Amino acid sequence: MAYDFDLFVIGAGSGGVRAARFAAGFGAKVAVAESRYLGGTCVNVGCVPKKLLVYGAHVADELEQAAGFGWTLEEGHFDWGTLIANKNREIERLNGIYRNLLVNSGVTLLQGHARITGANEVDVDGQRYSAANILIATGGWPQVPDIPGKELAITSNEAFYLKALPRRVLVVGGGYIAVEFAGIFQGLGAATSLLYRGDLFLRGFDGSVRTHLKEELEKRGLDLQFNADIQRIDKLPDGSLKATLKDGRELVADCVFYATGRRPMLDDLGLENTGVELDERGYIRVDEQYQTTAPSILAIGDVIGRVQLTPVALAEGMAVARRLFKPEQYRPVDYQNIPTAVFSQPPIGTVGLTEEQALEAGHKVQIFESRFRAMKLTLTDIQEKTLMKLVVDADTDKVLGCHMVGPDAGEIVQGLGIALKAGATKQQFDDTIGVHPTAAEEFVTMRTVTR
Ligand code: FAD
Ligand code: NDP
Repeated sequence: MAYDFDLFVIGAGSGGVRAARFAAGFGAKVAVAESRYLGGTCVNVGCVPKKLLVYGAHVADELEQAAGFGWTLEEGHFDWGTLIANKNREIERLNGIYRNLLVNSGVTLLQGHARITGANEVDVDGQRYSAANILIATGGWPQVPDIPGKELAITSNEAFYLKALPRRVLVVGGGYIAVEFAGIFQGLGAATSLLYRGDLFLRGFDGSVRTHLKEELEKRGLDLQFNADIQRIDKLPDGSLKATLKDGRELVADCVFYATGRRPMLDDLGLENTGVELDERGYIRVDEQYQTTAPSILAIGDVIGRVQLTPVALAEGMAVARRLFKPEQYRPVDYQNIPTAVFSQPPIGTVGLTEEQALEAGHKVQIFESRFRAMKLTLTDIQEKTLMKLVVDADTDKVLGCHMVGPDAGEIVQGLGIALKAGATKQQFDDTIGVHPTAAEEFVTMRTVTR
């Protein structure tokens, strides 16, 4: 049977655009439907605008350090409206680039909500299309716990478009987004509290990293409240918000920002018309080649709930395009040793196993850990410390994990990711000549076992 398209992609985000472009490049007839914004979460309400706001907040650090280097600055003034307007202009530019990328690679771009109506059929705002393969790349959406007053809270989606910087912010959650936005709000001048329901935030990260970041954030004056869970939110007559915690305490702020995880975006997707099954967490179930339980339907990215990072969605999109249209070039995505950064202030960079994971996996580990005050701070009064840590297998000498909290951690850990992928040993780290003077050289000069 002749179909309208070889591949119909639902969602023009990180994964969908990558799969569509490469499939078209391999000669397939491809359509992409996008209901909201080209480039998806990452470009519009994720990685890109977030990083721009992080840069904005970081300027406060540079200004604080300036006096030590002889600069006298007049009192600075921050204008939220300017930052947001400039950010919006950049996002619009990127939307245009994504449009051109798709159109120039021969992809048919359909603007509208896509609903699957059969194994090989998609409806976009009333128009039906047939396709040999359908790829679901619809991403995720913020999830706010169902408490009274939840409609008074905002999520990352709204934070990027606030009219003004709130004076007092309660950030709820202890994952990537909560920690990053707490740094943004505080850095830009809002009195910020971070409320996390457990004993220590960033569950799943290395224990030394979690403790070190906690200490550094406290030094910066961020109000960290652990074992704190909001029971209800009420609006006060003056327009501010009162959060009542489960332990009875009451906190008042102008903005309550929830970053309590994301759910798969399956709204009105028509899965009931297909044989696509969900896993026990509610994400689309796929096999190792992204095939759902319906033979003609595939899924990648945040909607499958594996690793919710843009470069992972890109790799999955590429794998699907190759698998379908260039099988001789197909290579499975390697989910081991994925480097990642949390753009907190200071940032975290990490790749490989944490100390806890290495022990749990049965490795006999050697830990190399270093804490130092970065050279840049020696002419200032700032007492911030950088943490670097290596987790090494004592039997094979292989470096199992690299972890850092400090300036440029994300930049530094990218290179270390290649070393870990290549299976580098501690001896090879030691044999590598450092770049002097940098903070990064510490990773090749740690000689004494800490534990
Ligand atoms: P998305 O990029 O979410 O794209 C899905 C697209 O599908 C959307 O455009 C949506 O509008 C569209 N869509 C949904 N349903 C339909 C439908 N029925 N019809 C048509 N279109 C539809 N990752 C990093 O690696 N680094 C970071 O620094 C980082 N920062 C982040 C910061 C924030 C605040 C957030 C929320 C996320 C961040 N992420 C980051 C995660 C990253 O954004 C996601 O992992 C990535 O965007 C997932 O790509 P995707 O293709 O699966 O989905
Ligand atoms: P995460 O899953 O990272 O964190 C969610 C946090 O919310 C956890 O601390 C969790 O606590 C807490 N939480 C969950 N449910 C509740 C609840 N009902 N009440 C109170 N707290 C709750 O999600 P995020 O929203 O921060 O980010 C989503 C994903 O997006 C990330 O996992 C990451 O993959 C990606 N991302 C990547 C970034 C980057 O690369 N720099 C930046 C931003 C996002 P607990 O640990 O106790 O379960």
